[in-house]
Amino acid sequence: MDFLPRRLSKYLSESTSLSHRQIRRAHERGAVRVRLSGEPAAKNLPLSATIMGQDTVLLDGREVTPHTPSSYLLLNKPAGVVSTACDPQQRACLVPWLTARAFPVGRLDAQTTGAILLTDDGDLTYMMLHPLFHLPKTYHLRLGERLDSHDPRLQLLREGVDIGDGKPAARALDVRVTGGGAGWTGVRMTLEEGRHRQVRRMCRAARLALEHLHRVSFGPVRLGGCPQGEVRQLGAHEIAALWEAVGGAHVPRERAIKALERRSKAWREQGNPDTRLERWLLRHNAR
Ligand code: URA
Repeated sequence: MDFLPRRLSKYLSESTSLSHRQIRRAHERGAVRVRLSGEPAAKNLPLSATIMGQDTVLLDGREVTPHTPSSYLLLNKPAGVVSTACDPQQRACLVPWLTARAFPVGRLDAQTTGAILLTDDGDLTYMMLHPLFHLPKTYHLRLGERLDSHDPRLQLLREGVDIGDGKPAARALDVRVTGGGAGWTGVRMTLEEGRHRQVRRMCRAARLALEHLHRVSFGPVRLGGCPQGEVRQLGAHEIAALWEAVGGAHVPRERAIKALERRSKAWREQGNPDTRLERWLLRHNAR
């Protein structure tokens, strides 16, 4: 798939670990230079300039290679770890499992264990978290009492309960009793939504005593035998299945091209056309 033109600021934020503020500062001190394709000298361009595939971006004299997503990991998160890259309150966080630019896709509560995806693929992350796609997530719950599968409180989870967030009742796609013993019941529950602490709040609203919560799958990806505290690489078929679940890899690409078209039109209307971008769009649309 060929390189999509992008703003210099976006190129730098995708391809380096610099924050937006650090990028602005580096640019202000003249550390960012761009060698446009076919031109011998590197220039200082505004951060809004369009970078094409054949251009070279230099930061402090060193070439910045364009970022290509490469890290797709599934972590079996242990209890007591918050799902963020760092925590201002110094609690255990995901740092030991994160690679260069990988971030968690969504969150699990600190006490919830199980499947959490870590990736440096920003487009896939955006799509997986988009409410339009509602990827199903399956949880194993341990409830602190013996229930049978016809318990009306389980039926309540299926029919929907008010979890007090001002939104329509939260309902589970599927709720099944999977096991149990004296004083406990195992339940498997699948949700399509991902509201804050949704399972815990649904259980509280249905007066169910949730003792432990564990996520076993996220969309088409299952934890399988991945031990707690460990990560496993997703296989190519799993990455493809995730893309399929969110409508296909062409979707963010088409969105980005539409945004480029709007930008190109706006530049022309302002009397400052970006002719390189216009040529790229013409070539792209002719294909
Ligand atoms: N629902 C919760 O209550 N907690 C989680 O971590 C995930 C879903």
